[in-house]
Amino acid sequence: MTSPYSLPCLKRVAICGGTHGNEMSGIFLVRHWIRNPSELQRDTFCATPFLGNPHAIEKSVRYIDRDLNRTFSAEFLNSKDSESYEVRRAWEVNQIFGPKSSSQAYDFMFDFHNTTSNMGTCLIVDSEESLLSMHMCNYIQKHYTRSSCPIYLYQLAEEETNSINSVAKAGLAFELGPQPHGVLRADHLAQMRSLTACALDFIDLFNKGMLFPAFEIDAHKAVQYVDFPRYPNGEISAVVHPKLQDKDFLPLKPGDPIFQTADGEDILYEGHDITYPAFINEAAYYEKKVAFVKTEKHTFSLPALQKKF
Ligand SMILES: [Zn+2]
Repeated sequence: MTSPYSLPCLKRVAICGGTHGNEMSGIFLVRHWIRNPSELQRDTFCATPFLGNPHAIEKSVRYIDRDLNRTFSAEFLNSKDSESYEVRRAWEVNQIFGPKSSSQAYDFMFDFHNTTSNMGTCLIVDSEESLLSMHMCNYIQKHYTRSSCPIYLYQLAEEETNSINSVAKAGLAFELGPQPHGVLRADHLAQMRSLTACALDFIDLFNKGMLFPAFEIDAHKAVQYVDFPRYPNGEISAVVHPKLQDKDFLPLKPGDPIFQTADGEDILYEGHDITYPAFINEAAYYEKKVAFVKTEKHTFSLPALQKKF
C-alpha cells in the first residue's frame, strides 16, 4: 500500500459571509458567529468569521464597483492604487488572511454564497487537484445526509484563481439555492449551518491525525459559459426554457430546448455531447452574459490523506 499524501494540520481557518453583499445566509450566520463564536470551536482550532464586503452588505447589493469574488488575481492584488472599493477591500482581505500564495496565508477559508439557481447544497472547489478540499467534499457527502451535495469545479482551463478563498492555502465555497438575493430562507440557513459544522468536524479529525482513505468521487467541471440569445442591440431575445429551468446538474442532451423566444419559438441545444448545466438563470449572471454554465461530469480518483506528523 502506498503511504498517504500528507499535509500540515489546519490551525488558521476563516469563514467568510457576504462576499456578495445580498447573499443573505452567510451574512446572517457570520454576524451571529461574530456575536457568539462557540459553534466554531473545535478541540484543535477555532474558526474566524468575517464579512467579505461590508459596504455592499450595508446596501444589500452584490458589489459596489466590481465583483469582489473576481478580484483576487495578481493583476488586482499587485496594483498600486485603485478607485474601486472592491480592489481596496481585496488588498485588506489579502493582508489579513494572506498574502495569497505565501507561507503566512491562512490554512483554509470557507466562503458562503446563495444563488437564484436550483443548485441545492452545492460544494464549490477550484479544481479536482485541490486534495484537501476534495477530501472535505467526500467527507461532507458521506456525513451530511439531509441532501445530496453536488460538487462544482469552477476553474476553467488556463484560468487564474481569483476568488476570495484563493487567498488561503485551501478553500471551499457553499452555494445554496434557490434563494432570491436579499432574502433569508430558514431552510437554506439551517443547511448552511449544518454543512459548516460537518466541515469543521472534518478539519478537527484531520488535525487529530485521522487517516482519510483514497476514494473516487463524481464532480461537475465547468467548461463553458452560455449567453442568452440577443438582438443585434444587445437586448435579450429569449428566456431560459421552462424545461431547462431548475434542472441544474441534470443531463441536457443535444436537441433539448434551452431557450424560448417571446413568440414561443423553442431554441434547442446544438452541442454534440450531453452536458450538465449549472447556475441556470442565476440573477447575478445576467450582467456577465451567462444564462447557464455547461459542465462535464467526471469521476476523479483521489489518494489517501493524513496530517503530516
Ligand atoms: Zn455569491
